[in-house]
Amino acid sequence: MAMNKIVESPTRLPAFKGVTIALSKGRIFDDTTPLLKAAGITPLLNPETSRELILPTNQDDVRLVIVRASDVPTYVQYGAADLGVAGRDVLMEQGGGGLYQPLDLNIARCKLMVAVPKGFDYEGAIRRGARLRVATKYTEATRNHFAEKGVHVDLIKLYGSMELAPLTGLADVIVDLVSSGNTLKANNLEAVEEICSISARLIVNVAAWKLSRQRLAPIVAAFARSVGSA
Ligand code: ATP
Ligand code: MG
Repeated sequence: MAMNKIVESPTRLPAFKGVTIALSKGRIFDDTTPLLKAAGITPLLNPETSRELILPTNQDDVRLVIVRASDVPTYVQYGAADLGVAGRDVLMEQGGGGLYQPLDLNIARCKLMVAVPKGFDYEGAIRRGARLRVATKYTEATRNHFAEKGVHVDLIKLYGSMELAPLTGLADVIVDLVSSGNTLKANNLEAVEEICSISARLIVNVAAWKLSRQRLAPIVAAFARSVGSA
């Protein structure tokens, strides 16, 4: 008699039945807190002082998960979180696949810019057809930007402190987020070209939106009212 083979499936924890919202700490968390409040949601722990990565809220069926800014789309895309807040910079690099982006939250605003050492003739270098070495964390947006301009570049991927690259000869120019410009100034760099303006968006898991819309829609609506788009 043939034995039925029992195939073990990987054990994942039983799914949380409520709404999970993925956020990064720092400016995204700080700027999202008032929006959550408008939706009646108050975190019971502060991610800056707590080591907990899953934060309960005043609502038993709503929790926050604290992840790296660039990991927020991944959590939402795979449904480990239903909602998330991610910068346009992060979404451009991730590609935005498998996500709804219903709302520009108008928070964590800054610009993606090309910056050079003070005095570097950027326009001249481009006119001469020089092949620029560009250091950045934002390789997708940077590749698209220079391709549209028809400028040949060698991209060097970095994960932090882009400002150091031109100062050490690693690259000619950098592409980085700029808000006040103080970091550039402190490193004797100047912004020479804007690639795009950046703000954070609400992102929604596609399946969760279909299956749990009654639960998610009030939160999305409260966010929309707070940012003035409803
Ligand atoms: P990490 O610091 O963990 O390496 P990160 O730099 O992407 O990752 P944050 O510094 O918390 O994380 O930035 C989160 C988001 O805030 C960014 O994705 C971007 O959208 C926005 N942001 C980043 N830098 C600035 C800035 N200087 N001014 C305003 N918004 C910014
Ligand atoms: Mg940072």
